[in-house]
Amino acid sequence: MITGATRIAALIGDPVRHSLSPVIHNAAFRALGLDWVFGAFEVAEGGAAGAVEAVRALGIGGVSVTMPHKEAVIPALDRVSATAERLRSVNAIAWHGHDLIGESTDGVGFIDALHNDEGFDARDRTVAVLGAGGAARAIVLALARAGARDIVIFNRTRASGEAAAGLAPDRARYVQLPGQISDADLIVNATSIGMANTPTAGELPLDPSLLRSGQLVVDIVYHPLRTPFLEAAKARGCVPVTGLGMLIHQAAHAFRLWTAEEPPLEVMSAAAMAALHAR
Ligand code: NDP
Repeated sequence: MITGATRIAALIGDPVRHSLSPVIHNAAFRALGLDWVFGAFEVAEGGAAGAVEAVRALGIGGVSVTMPHKEAVIPALDRVSATAERLRSVNAIAWHGHDLIGESTDGVGFIDALHNDEGFDARDRTVAVLGAGGAARAIVLALARAGARDIVIFNRTRASGEAAAGLAPDRARYVQLPGQISDADLIVNATSIGMANTPTAGELPLDPSLLRSGQLVVDIVYHPLRTPFLEAAKARGCVPVTGLGMLIHQAAHAFRLWTAEEPPLEVMSAAAMAALHAR
């Protein structure tokens, strides 16, 4: 029951209606018996600073941030983490005393998912990242910090590909042709290609004949869970990994920052799966 003591957490963004964050976090609050509830606020472009002021005024306990506010919230916060600063992107806001701190949890969520769910350690590995948008940048930085030896970035637009490589200049490089893919231990689709209800639904980010049996292939697109790329990778003998793990682990990281509790990962994952199947 929601009472006067219930703490509020919320997503700010536009659009927010199809976000899985309320489903995932409310399932976690319920499972742990925490007196918290998570809602979603549709905040139009230009409204980030006002939304952060509202968080302060209303004492909202935790915030998730999505498009188009991931960079725009930064000046309104008291501080951001070194990762969020480097990426110029915040996807979670938490209180530290009386200060509002911005964090970027996608990269750590990606690494945690691979480590916990697949037993994959990025140290000294060779990785190919397809894409150079917000999620790809977070993944490149996290892989570099996790000790990946060589990170090859392949992207439609050269300038953003080079900028992503610039996050880890000692080990990441932009390539125009995906030739090095067959050398990689891990291949990550971090483009939006294959996402349901978009013009690229049903398309592949890469010619699957470049894949080699035994490679770990992650598609961070999670709707659908089994993307055409993952199906093609499986047919080539690769180990397919859906984007659900990253989604859950990045949410788990935010949950820890807000509540200081250990999140119930399996409950969160089951709630997200049920919501995705209902779509
Ligand atoms: P961005 O818009 O920041 O980046 C999109 C990327 O996809 C860019 O590299 C872009 O290339 C590329 N791209 C898009 N359309 C095409 C196309 N037709 N042909 C070639 N390349 C294309 O998005 P995000 O980084 O925020 O998100 C990317 C995907 O990852 C989304 O599907 C999102 O839902 C998913 N995601 C999943 C998460 C998870 O936890 N599993 C977390 C975050 C995101 P270019 O630079 O040339 O435009």
